[in-house]
Amino acid sequence: MPLHLTPRREFLRRAVLVGAGLLASRELFAAEAGASSRWALLSDTHIGSKPETLAREINMADHLRAVVKEITALKAAPTAVFINGDCALKAGFAEEYATFTPLLKPLTEAGLPIHMTLGNHDDRANFWQALNVASDAARPVQTKHISVIKSPHANWFLLDSLDVVDKPPGKLDTAQRDWLAKALDESKSKPALVMVHHNPHLDPTKPNTALLDTNELFELLLPRKQVKAFFYGHSHKWELKEKDGLHLVNLPAVSYAFAKDQPTGWVDCHLKSGSATLELRAHNEQHAAHGKKTELKWRA
Ligand SMILES: [Zn+2]
Repeated sequence: MPLHLTPRREFLRRAVLVGAGLLASRELFAAEAGASSRWALLSDTHIGSKPETLAREINMADHLRAVVKEITALKAAPTAVFINGDCALKAGFAEEYATFTPLLKPLTEAGLPIHMTLGNHDDRANFWQALNVASDAARPVQTKHISVIKSPHANWFLLDSLDVVDKPPGKLDTAQRDWLAKALDESKSKPALVMVHHNPHLDPTKPNTALLDTNELFELLLPRKQVKAFFYGHSHKWELKEKDGLHLVNLPAVSYAFAKDQPTGWVDCHLKSGSATLELRAHNEQHAAHGKKTELKWRA
């Protein structure tokens, strides 16, 4: 056991609450009395079974450590930290999560709730076990890892697109989409922000290694005008697009990029009524997109 017993217990206690999405409401509302609220958005950490594991010449643990250090040093702490899937490098091995969870400890010690989604390189059962979440705990869709985070400025819906472990495509499936439609219909007056690990498959001429039920999801999201933005990772790319006024936010990877010109890092998100301002925080401060702020205005 690399960790001392007491901090580990406290860490696991918080991790359980966070994993189960129970740290939402009261603590969050207290933290968000101001005119805007801050959210730290991370994706694709790809932590291997050892802190020294490299991929594409990158030490992923170092990359996550640097991001965690920057977030814990912020003068105005974020309401929560989101990690949007592919927490693990390869296949959600227990050893990968054993390396991953201690790297998050400075965040939990700073009192920051962490909410995670699962990607194709994660394993649901191993993830729940690593975070000490009972596999039979009550959840919106019993077989999926979903979090709903309600806040004064928006409701976040963090979905589960893990299909087959270590196979690139993902899907939400009917039960999760049906639940989402109902949950969105129950809160029509509050902006809704949806986060899924897999990117939407928007080019039918290309093979689909992204979200297999993109069309079904978009049929659900586009007419529900309270849905203002869709956040995803998987493609290790920082990109902002729009579809029928719905903002499509491709979060960069914390770990490594597939294309040489793409940054790695995280996104600092400030929500207020009517818009979000996103700022890329790249590991490479010389990257052209580092520190650039973009305001996304909500569709009517
Ligand atoms: Zn990934």
